[in-house]
Amino acid sequence: MTGTFVGMPSFPAFPAFPEAAREAVGDGVLRANLRHATHTIRDKRARAVAELADWDRLRAAGKAVKDHTLRHLDRYLLQLEESVTAAGGTVHWAADADEANRIVTGLVLATGHREVVKVKSMATQEIGLNEALEAAGIAAYETDLAELIVQLGHDRPSHILVPAIHRNRAEIREIFAAEMGRWGRPAPDGLGDDPRELAEAARLHLREKFLRAKVAVSGANFMVAETGTMVVFESEGNGRMCLTLPETLISVVGIEKVVPTFRDLEIFLQTLPRSSTAERMNPYTTMWTGLGPSRGADGDGPSAFHLVLLDNGRTDTLADEVGRQALRCIRCSACLNVCPVYERAGGHAYGSVYPGPIGAILSPQLRGTGSEIDASLPYASTLCGACYEVCPVAIDIPEVLVHLRERVAQGGPVTREGVRVRIRPAHGHTAERAAMRAARLLLDRPAALRAGERLLARARRLRPRRLPGPGRAWTDARDLPELPPEPFRDWWARERGGRA
Ligand code: SF4
Repeated sequence: MTGTFVGMPSFPAFPAFPEAAREAVGDGVLRANLRHATHTIRDKRARAVAELADWDRLRAAGKAVKDHTLRHLDRYLLQLEESVTAAGGTVHWAADADEANRIVTGLVLATGHREVVKVKSMATQEIGLNEALEAAGIAAYETDLAELIVQLGHDRPSHILVPAIHRNRAEIREIFAAEMGRWGRPAPDGLGDDPRELAEAARLHLREKFLRAKVAVSGANFMVAETGTMVVFESEGNGRMCLTLPETLISVVGIEKVVPTFRDLEIFLQTLPRSSTAERMNPYTTMWTGLGPSRGADGDGPSAFHLVLLDNGRTDTLADEVGRQALRCIRCSACLNVCPVYERAGGHAYGSVYPGPIGAILSPQLRGTGSEIDASLPYASTLCGACYEVCPVAIDIPEVLVHLRERVAQGGPVTREGVRVRIRPAHGHTAERAAMRAARLLLDRPAALRAGERLLARARRLRPRRLPGPGRAWTDARDLPELPPEPFRDWWARERGGRA
């Protein structure tokens, strides 16, 4: 039924980043759509952030709360479980994607219904839930407007916040006109590509789903340990319909989304909307705590609530001293909008539900660097540092990228499924390592270095424009520097007579 991108589980099917990016860069329409959208959001965000005199302090506070929580994650998760249970919810623990899919599919089947509406579905895309539900005969409907466009278009999301960022209005109109009727209420006759018309078509199409669905599946932006409260930030109000109308609500949330206290939300209520959509205040913030007293009072909210706590590589990531900071991410997408690589390559090239700079450090940690795509992701960056500058929880993405590059090129100790193992260097880095070994040998022997420099200076006219063999990939995108007629040491000795 669904064509939505499955995210993590099918990653071996994705080509390495350079290959996928090369194709994307050749697509002029895609590049123009991305450039327009990312520049618009990034400029608005910069203005919204500049309005707050204490932005740096908020950023530091967000980082501190997240770091503290990650340091005591075991304690806060147990507290969360207690709070959710006390409020009438049921907590399930899922070690990986398969277990999470089994739990959710079982819960939906147990209700006797075969349709679910979905909101905030990034974690569910990570585990390929839509496909697992489909295999069990359950139809899953995305209700976020951009997710709906992606699902109807049999496409993949290419941005954390705006999954259909690579589509323009005319393309969306075509998708709605061609596909809505196959999934439910068709698009109105004569649908134009005015944003208001498109939004109205989606509203009518989705309303039918909201009123019919008895089961909803959601993610969450935050989980509060002390109260068991789930928090969803969204811009359209569709999420609120998903979270309040259906009888059964199943939330699939990564374990890193927990924060200790309700008061901690104060920080993120300020930093997340400004960083993501450049809004001073989030349009729709929905919070729910188990079933709560309101259920009895006015029948509002679900009568059954299940929380599936998803690990899927997060505990292993936590074990990495440098890489664990990626778990601070609040999925604002600011790093995507400033990244020169993302702007040109688009989100699909990253081969995961997490594109852009955060995807380049999160996916190879959650999934390991064993596949071609994951081994290439730490190189999908210029290391310009723009992502670090804008990150509202100060994740030093360049630092993690370099750390992961070292892992890919050298191998070394990592934690996999809780066990410390030593991985081998990724395929294709043999020449690089041999070159580094040769450089070390040479740099340790000044006489040999001097002789080598003189030899190269004499042979400079024979310098090829492109390196042969394994070095060819390096010079495919760079000019081989010209060699000077005289080695620097000789020039120094001649000019300065060896003086400092
Ligand atoms: S890494 Fe930082 S900037 Fe990027 S999505 Fe996460 S929180 Fe936002």
